[in-house]
Amino acid sequence: MIIQKSTNPRISSFDPNNFAFGNTFIDHMVICEYENGKWGEVKVVPYGPLPFSPAMMGVNYGQACFEGMKAYKDKDGQVFLFRPEKNFARINKSAERLAMPAVTEEMFIGGLKALVDLDRAWIPEGEGMSLYIRPLIFATEEALKARIANKYLFAIVATPAKSYYTAPVSVKISDYYSRSANGGVGFAKAAGNYAASFYPTQLANEEGYEQIIWTDDSTHEYFEESGTMNVFVRINDTIYTPPTSEKILDGVTRDSFLQLAKRRGIEVKVEPIAVKTFIDAQRNGTLKEVWGVGTAVVTSVFQSVGYNGEKLELPRLSNEESFALTLQKDLVDIQTNQAEDPFGWRV
Ligand code: PMP
Repeated sequence: MIIQKSTNPRISSFDPNNFAFGNTFIDHMVICEYENGKWGEVKVVPYGPLPFSPAMMGVNYGQACFEGMKAYKDKDGQVFLFRPEKNFARINKSAERLAMPAVTEEMFIGGLKALVDLDRAWIPEGEGMSLYIRPLIFATEEALKARIANKYLFAIVATPAKSYYTAPVSVKISDYYSRSANGGVGFAKAAGNYAASFYPTQLANEEGYEQIIWTDDSTHEYFEESGTMNVFVRINDTIYTPPTSEKILDGVTRDSFLQLAKRRGIEVKVEPIAVKTFIDAQRNGTLKEVWGVGTAVVTSVFQSVGYNGEKLELPRLSNEESFALTLQKDLVDIQTNQAEDPFGWRV
């Protein structure tokens, strides 16, 4: 691995109490180029723009996928990644589906560790603070030909992230648009999946909803995901989440919540959630909580759900009563080294 340190670092002007998430980038990035059938040397270089042609295949045909993960700093300044091997496996599943070359462990795990170590001063410490890390692969070949590209770039960039606290949100159960389809790319973190979700989300926003609960594309009778998160529903004291499939992203947070819930003795059912079951539970008062989970905000609790033009209100639970917030705390305590890690998740 080649490490080329920035001669003009910006870290001294970084204010951990005042920065823009998603627009502030750490001093370095990882890059690795693929051509002639193989990946070249992994490089850690100063962060900055790269020159590309508008005829680059990645932007014309959408051969692009990414990951989202975080690094956390504890009170003593130690830095941890969370289950990075899950993201490594997932980016290669995405790459395979998009006919892109797999990345190696040295590129992904080695690159992550080198980058986070070099720029550890950029990781803010404290409640909810972290470094959001974005590994990505995209086709860089300059050619207007709709076929598998011959050149790619693997990169890792990162932006400091603030408190994950989000107010409860209103969500709309989709009765028309879909995020994914049978035989499609829903299980992959394909860049195009996100592009395709923006318009329906904008329409939902105009109706007063912050997110969409995506339903299956053929019947719209079953829950799949919510926004860019996996979804959980609690009826009485049992929590439900749909099984992952070729249409549902296998989220790291979802998997962690399932294990944490079992550890607490909470009854967990990984099975399809019918919209009808959900609506009936809301009407008969057995529906207790609905929430989304993902790396970015950990948990997003829903306060109301739109269905068939009706806005259904959900119960307001205290932090102690809420399974969503209890499990969120269990998870964050492990991520930030404030609790034992019996699962071996911290790296
Ligand atoms: N579903 C989708 C569509 C997502 O983009 C994400 C975010 N990666 C998730 C679920 C949650 O996955 P994770 O817990 O691994 O962040």
